[in-house]
Amino acid sequence: MTALVRFLVIKRLSGNSSTLMVAKEYFVDGVSPSSISYKYKISKFRVRGYIQRITEKTRNSYLASLIIKQVFPLVLEIEPAVIKVNEKYVCLLCDQSFHNEVTIENHLRRKHEEYINKTVKDVLESAKELSFALGTHKGS
Ligand SMILES: [Zn+2]
Repeated sequence: MTALVRFLVIKRLSGNSSTLMVAKEYFVDGVSPSSISYKYKISKFRVRGYIQRITEKTRNSYLASLIIKQVFPLVLEIEPAVIKVNEKYVCLLCDQSFHNEVTIENHLRRKHEEYINKTVKDVLESAKELSFALGTHKGS
């Protein structure tokens, strides 16, 4: 569960909403990769790549959908750590700016590991509290 939550948290912190929407629409709403590709203007190849990477995190697509259903609203509550300002991306955690979207995730992983870990921990704790409250906790 942690690997998948971590993946989603990093996407959210990077401001990469399209990957999050692919995860939610495919694994929770059951939308087909071709519809998702059309809706978000992402190539089918990339949509399938995201789906494959997410499935690999849990080794099981049913488990992936259970986890995403549970944590998706919590991940959306996280404030992105990177904002886009005039064609530039600015990291709100350290004020560094980037011209390339691709470098953002690497920057977060390299410079803000602790922040990522703390955010992942918060999401996992909230998910646990939520599942206790709903009586759906199964000890995993
Ligand atoms: Zn930074």
